[in-house]
Amino acid sequence: MYVIIAVMIIATRYKIELVEGTELFKIRNLNAPLCPNCGSLCSGYDNRLRRVIGDDGQVVVYQLRRLRCPVCDALHIELPDFIRTRKRYAGSVIDDVLNGRGDCCPADDRTMRRWKHENRPPETSGFFDADMIKLNYSQKNRGGQKENAEEE
Ligand SMILES: [Zn+2]
Repeated sequence: MYVIIAVMIIATRYKIELVEGTELFKIRNLNAPLCPNCGSLCSGYDNRLRRVIGDDGQVVVYQLRRLRCPVCDALHIELPDFIRTRKRYAGSVIDDVLNGRGDCCPADDRTMRRWKHENRPPETSGFFDADMIKLNYSQKNRGGQKENAEEE
């Protein structure tokens, strides 16, 4: 029995084209879609629709390809790099917020806070680390005072 693992194929060179007779957009990948598991050339399996909210707050529906690997039988969704997994907003909207340019962001405050939280670099993140640094600093000072006291 096959265990099918759904993985993304991220398209970095692509054209966005209107699907004729619809209001859907499709991604034409300019690179050959290779299986992330085994590197084989994948072929079209079916399509999935994906709603993405742009920086103007407008919803655009993209028709994304699901591709099948002929060797390991896995199905992969083909995502252009501006669509983030499990995110309703376009990558550029999220990046603007993370870079402090989120003034015109269509997302609500709670969503923007979550993006910032998710993208915090671990070494500089949050109150805990800041408190630890303060603690170490004051311990050092105390140690220093103790040494002085012993000298007296
Ligand atoms: Zn494969």
